[in-house]
Amino acid sequence: MGFITNILDRIKSQVQPKLKPTFVTPDQKKISPKHIHPAAKRIIFELQKANFDAYIVGGALRDLLTSTKPKDFDIVTNATPNQIKKLFRSAIIIGRRFKIVHVRDKHHTFEVATFRSNRSGKVDQNGFRTRDNEFGTIQDDVLRRDFTINALYYDPKENQLLDFTHACDDIKSKRISMIGKTEERFKEDPVRMLRAARMAAKLNFEIDADILEAISQQKNLLANISSDRLSFEVQKLFYTGHARKSLDKLNALGLFSVLFPQTQVCLSDKRVQKQTQTFLNQACYNADQRYLKNKTLSSAFLYAVLLWWPLKQATRKLRPRDRDYAKQFMAAADNIINEQQKTLKLPRKIIEGILHIWQLQLSFMKSDDYIVDRTLKSPRFRAGLDLLMLRAHANEPVWWQAVKWQGLSSTLESSTTAK
Ligand code: ATP
Ligand code: MG
Repeated sequence: MGFITNILDRIKSQVQPKLKPTFVTPDQKKISPKHIHPAAKRIIFELQKANFDAYIVGGALRDLLTSTKPKDFDIVTNATPNQIKKLFRSAIIIGRRFKIVHVRDKHHTFEVATFRSNRSGKVDQNGFRTRDNEFGTIQDDVLRRDFTINALYYDPKENQLLDFTHACDDIKSKRISMIGKTEERFKEDPVRMLRAARMAAKLNFEIDADILEAISQQKNLLANISSDRLSFEVQKLFYTGHARKSLDKLNALGLFSVLFPQTQVCLSDKRVQKQTQTFLNQACYNADQRYLKNKTLSSAFLYAVLLWWPLKQATRKLRPRDRDYAKQFMAAADNIINEQQKTLKLPRKIIEGILHIWQLQLSFMKSDDYIVDRTLKSPRFRAGLDLLMLRAHANEPVWWQAVKWQGLSSTLESSTTAK
């Protein structure tokens, strides 16, 4: 009996009822053809002229509906990559496993993807999705997306949204809900936990209770994720204008400790938690301000800041007057990096940058002429000075040095501009 029930269950799960969209005419103030990038529209119209279906999908629509400026306009279609390529001269097919097409306009590149299916994609024995590379229908494409709010499709020709998952309702009620079974979707791809935190921070949305519960149970799965993907997410969490909210959200969800366990130790240590928090808050505030002003932010600086307090703690017993102080300080810095590598492996170039920024903190304490000269010429001088200023703002007793080096850098700038 059990055997037959198992087979019936399996068949039932394979024959999913066909998802039906609700066709919504969007609020013209938020989404209308004029809100879509003209080149993205041209690509869609070209595909439609060749009798393919084509839509704007995902993040851009969510952002427009929440009055946020979209970063990019992604396009999906039922045309295959080769069919897409034939229609556009600038198209190049990229990706090894799942091929997508980049179509270039004068200044922008648009991602044009073929509807993708999860159905026969393989998962390993832990449920982790190892392949996600079959073409499918629009319904399949909906089911492989993460949250309902990220699964809207817009046809600019008909001015119509296709809503398969009550996405419009969830956007209105500011909810982050998973498509499908939450636990399985996190097993398939644990990065979705960070994405939930990021969406909640970026949009000020509430995360559904089942997602919160699943994150608390499954957060350690993030240990299996490649460093490239984790770094990419960390960058998006902290360098896209909502760093402060990301920090709070990651902390509330227990995800910060998974990414930065050493910094978490400082945040949980009664003796230094307040100072660490003040420092991180100030760092996030600065990052958000820089983003608002369209200023660049480097990965090395981000990690040098996020790991500053663990380094401070590890070196608190060293005495700056000791002869080998600098050596011991940098040895402690190496240890911090090595420990961090266990959770989030950083490329060599970024590590060199972090160490350089930390080393500058030592140089800033010196006033010998040749050190001052060397420090001002360092390629990481700006980033190092930013960390020094941040430390001063977060009440470290380095105000005097911060003012002095700020002054020296302004003198240098005005003398180079004058030349
Ligand atoms: P943003 O552009 O603000 O970073 P986004 O949601 O647009 O956010 P992208 O990485 O651009 O994020 O992804 C585009 C779309 O692809 C998403 O809206 C979502 O539908 C889908 N997507 C991205 N990552 C995943 C994932 N890990 N699992 C399932 N679907 C995903
Ligand atoms: Mg996007």
